[in-house]
Amino acid sequence: MIPVKQKPIRPHRPIVSVAVALPVMDCYSYTVPDHLLALIRTGKRVLIPFGSRTVTGYLIGSSSEPDSTTLKHILDVLDDAPLFSSAMVPFFQWIATYYMYPLGQVISTALPAGLNLTDIAVMTLCPPGMAALTSDAVSPLEKTVLTALTKRPMDFRQLKKDVGQRVPWALIHQMRQRGWLVVERQIKGGQVRRKTIRMVRLAEGVAESGKISPQRQAILDLLRQQGGLSVPDLSKRVPTAASLVRAMQKAGMVRIEDHPVYRDPFGDPIDPDRPPVLTDEQAEAVNRMTPLLGKGFRTVLLAGVTGSGKTEVYLQLARQAVDRGLHVLVLVPEIALISQTERRFRARFGETVAVLHSGLSRGERYDQWLRVARGEAGIAIGARSCIFAPFETVGLIIVDEEHDAAYKQDGGLSYNARDLAVVRARHQNALAVLGSATPSVQSWHNVAIGKYSTVGLTRRVNRQPLPVIQTVDLSQIRDERGIRRYITPLLQQEIQKTLDDGHQTLIFLNRRGFSVFPICAHCGQPLRCKNCDISLTLHKQANAYRCHYCGFSRPATSTCPACGSDKIKLLGTGTEKIQEAMVQLFPQARVARMDRDTMTRKGSVVKLLKDLKNRNIDILVGTQMVAKGHDFPGITLVGVVCADLTLNFPDFRAGERTFQLLAQVAGRAGRGKQPGKVILQTFNPDHFSITAAKHQDFVTFFNQEIGFRQALGYPPFTRMIAVRLSGRDPRQTGIHARALGSACQDLLHPEGPFHRQVQVMGPIEAPLARIANQHRWQLLIKSPDTARLHRFVNQLMLGPNALPTRRDVRVTIDVDPFSLM
Ligand code: ADP
Ligand code: ZN
Ligand code: ZN
Repeated sequence: MIPVKQKPIRPHRPIVSVAVALPVMDCYSYTVPDHLLALIRTGKRVLIPFGSRTVTGYLIGSSSEPDSTTLKHILDVLDDAPLFSSAMVPFFQWIATYYMYPLGQVISTALPAGLNLTDIAVMTLCPPGMAALTSDAVSPLEKTVLTALTKRPMDFRQLKKDVGQRVPWALIHQMRQRGWLVVERQIKGGQVRRKTIRMVRLAEGVAESGKISPQRQAILDLLRQQGGLSVPDLSKRVPTAASLVRAMQKAGMVRIEDHPVYRDPFGDPIDPDRPPVLTDEQAEAVNRMTPLLGKGFRTVLLAGVTGSGKTEVYLQLARQAVDRGLHVLVLVPEIALISQTERRFRARFGETVAVLHSGLSRGERYDQWLRVARGEAGIAIGARSCIFAPFETVGLIIVDEEHDAAYKQDGGLSYNARDLAVVRARHQNALAVLGSATPSVQSWHNVAIGKYSTVGLTRRVNRQPLPVIQTVDLSQIRDERGIRRYITPLLQQEIQKTLDDGHQTLIFLNRRGFSVFPICAHCGQPLRCKNCDISLTLHKQANAYRCHYCGFSRPATSTCPACGSDKIKLLGTGTEKIQEAMVQLFPQARVARMDRDTMTRKGSVVKLLKDLKNRNIDILVGTQMVAKGHDFPGITLVGVVCADLTLNFPDFRAGERTFQLLAQVAGRAGRGKQPGKVILQTFNPDHFSITAAKHQDFVTFFNQEIGFRQALGYPPFTRMIAVRLSGRDPRQTGIHARALGSACQDLLHPEGPFHRQVQVMGPIEAPLARIANQHRWQLLIKSPDTARLHRFVNQLMLGPNALPTRRDVRVTIDVDPFSLM
């Protein structure tokens, strides 16, 4: 790959275009004062006057503004090196237009969080600066700065405070060029230090000598056999090795060197691995995709059943890309999964892997970002925000578990990283690979209409069979009482068998807490949140009723707010109750739980996965957190407590979600040498989402589902935009929603371009009509014609006839919404 140098932005006509990090839709032109000219590069942050304020903006290119006389000056340039390359700008612009979100805010969403706050430049005085202090060649302000720095190194804030005024970065830059001071970027708080490990090797020319202790001899023998060994590894064989090797180093017998290592998420160093021999199907997949690398934009859907070794295909394809000098982006839906994927990529590719996700400290994330921006990494792995990784060029973008809803961001810039992967690939003429065992209806539709091509993996690695799935009809056992309604005799029997065989069980229920429907035994009223239209959930461990939407909580000892009775029936089972039942039914088993309640502390996910891997857990109870992508060979039984929870959501994707979740969770069973079994309990044993999940048969599911989507005009046959309103005052919110609704009807008039092309549903109160005391309304706007749909919403929200927005009613636009609640 030819590294592309950042070109200065036409220095002879110094007008630049700046995206302002504020909710304004346009970009603005500024002139560049002479002393800042040399610092101007696309991708740097600048300080600009905006109205009466001074704000941060991003340089996105030169401006075509013909007349510079009325323009304001840039005040300062805030970065030494660009944070993103000019190749990213069209991508950012596409996002801003498509998601109807201000460009400057798109860019600040893309950049690692807290950048403005956490990176600080620390200035330290140098000897020439000291000398300059006494000469006449310094300006008064320079002199003040130098004097201040004689006290101690300072960052900008400290310097400003000390000298009583803001010091322009340009001045510091000049002083630095003269060698008067050095500037170092420091991350406040989380300074990242590389972990190193002490490696011991034989010193050259050590001869056999018979006069050493047996321990020393043992160390020499080990080193002779194995080349180098780390001190911890040596200590495992020779417990006193740590102190011995130091003495042996003095005696010239061994050399000790510090080697930088990456820590894996489990805290152990990662051993390099060797690629396994691919199965025929895997080899076929790699061979079909490799020729597409570097040959322009293409999207391939890699549809492979659970356990078919998709990750190995990604790894080998990435190897092909890296060998061709192409950069690779790998997106994974969840942090818990990233650690697994990250580990495998690091084992294969070592230091060229950068990781970007919210589990890192701010300092670490910033560091990783810069490694990518500087071209020091060849592969970036991360959660959805990794799609913004600042590679100048990208040759391959992999989206693992492409169907996963976690790729969709809710709130702020509501982007879908899976979709952006395809967009970025198109912008950069790259290959996009979307992988899943349960491809989304959207993606498989794109295959069906020839937009994507597809490669399949139909068998598990080593030909293990897919798990056998047995359904239990819950409606047949309605008469059972208490927990027996959920832990049916068959499930109990199978768990016992699995325990007896020394294997592991996964119990899945997509609802956390102990009781999700506490109800007064006296008056029959459910216990509700006081801020939301939703039942409270009893969390026994926390000893409180909690609202899952706003965090409101009341003590577990509360009485019925309606009648004061203290008899509360704890209906509705969550993971906590199932865990308790497991402990009672199988007192000898080690039971753990994985849901958002148990996984709050940093590192707890990793610790739990480690325990599971090391077989310190016999039964794991969990929500959808356990359903995703994990590869644990010890799990032979999966129990689905109630398969129907997601099926009855008022959402056109309810069937799709149910199918995906069940097929995925079933796919966790039998990935090792032992075959797997799944007990699937349901009230709807004949629903096609459930029968298709039993066979991981997404094609059959798709063929049924697509008919409904077409008949009802839902995606993928249309695109949707949700316009959401929320406000404290129910009346005002309703009035504004209805006004927006009639503005829609005006736009839809029979002579206009939108008539019969755009359909508006609503305004209606949202299914969750009140969250955190915000009353919620929504309009769903859809059309088979994407461009027209966008024009419609633009005219509605941003056009000259748009309604004036009210301060007390918030309106947000969600393009391609996922949650319709
Ligand atoms: P998927 O993502 O398709 O569910 P994984 O990529 O997690 O499957 O692979 C399942 C298991 O099979 C992993 O433990 C992986 O290391 C192993 N595996 C993958 N490919 C091969 C291969 N060609 N030979 C041996 N083991 C393999
Ligand atoms: Zn009551
Ligand atoms: Zn609430």
